[in-house]
Amino acid sequence: MLVLMDSHHSKKDLKGVIAKIESLGYRAHTIPGAQSTAVGITGNQGAIDPLVFENLPGVKEAIPVSKPYKLSGRDFKHGETRIPLDGLRRAVGAGNFTVIAGPCAVESEKQMLRIARAVKKAGAHMLRGGAFKPRTSPYAFHGLDEEGLRILAKAREETGLPVVTEAVDPRSLDLVCKYADVIQIGARNMQNYALLRLAGGIDRPVLLKRGMSATMDEWLMSAEYILAEGNSRVMLCERGIRTFATHTRNTLDLNVIPAVRKLSHLPVLVDPSHGTGLRDKVAPLARAAAAVGAQGIIIEVHDRPEEALSDGPQALLPSEFSKLVSQLRAMGKVLGYRLG
Ligand code: PEP
Ligand code: MN
Repeated sequence: MLVLMDSHHSKKDLKGVIAKIESLGYRAHTIPGAQSTAVGITGNQGAIDPLVFENLPGVKEAIPVSKPYKLSGRDFKHGETRIPLDGLRRAVGAGNFTVIAGPCAVESEKQMLRIARAVKKAGAHMLRGGAFKPRTSPYAFHGLDEEGLRILAKAREETGLPVVTEAVDPRSLDLVCKYADVIQIGARNMQNYALLRLAGGIDRPVLLKRGMSATMDEWLMSAEYILAEGNSRVMLCERGIRTFATHTRNTLDLNVIPAVRKLSHLPVLVDPSHGTGLRDKVAPLARAAAAVGAQGIIIEVHDRPEEALSDGPQALLPSEFSKLVSQLRAMGKVLGYRLG
């Protein structure tokens, strides 16, 4: 339910509406608007009678919301969410195309700093690199843990680029929040509802990857978990889904970009690295992502991919990455986004 206040309501009227919502055991989300204020209600299981609110002073109308993803959908919020970041002179979303790049994993200080300098020079806006790596094999490299986060912080200090890195559980979430600017929740954890709730309580934006077998609705419901806990800074990221195709690691679902943008106000990025798993497919799919309306990309780059401890075969070389950024910038002139 969305309660629309009339244009001359008083503060007391608004307080009365919020108190009524809370007295019913629901949560109130105040949404200030250009014309007037609206109050979104979450936490109700079934339908609420609009008259409960329409009879209160200062209320213009109470509108039932049909979508289960109330906060991530467009019913509660018009326009596009922009997510400003410290150190980034522009926000993620709302007409900006954001380029995030770096290695799959932080492997050493030297490796991370070399790649951070290279992607900064090529025009990246943010740095990526995993310190906690969810791997298919228990015997594979699982990241440098807190040491990896220290290295990322050093790379940020040197390049000025904000850092995105993954948290895989409550302990790593606490640590990642100490060092990183944006917290990534990976595909494998998209339905880790306990972790999503915790991410909803932190003071950091979240990059929420789509699970490899998740429908768009399930993905938006996962975003809803974070938003419902009070963290409104969520960016979505399509990273490829499981299909019958074996010619690439995953099938990058670019159909979902215009579909999710129609339903949600949240910024949507694309990860063509995990989406394809193959170096020569990454740049074409990154360009395709921009063409279908993605608001940014997250790309794996390595200067010595043959030595990489994870995902070497899908890493772009710095020179390839640099060329891609120039192409994406040029495309922005036609498509109407700003890459900077
Ligand atoms: C990653 O970006 O490092 C990663 C592990 O991606 P995903 O969760 O999409 O597999
Ligand atoms: Mn990877």
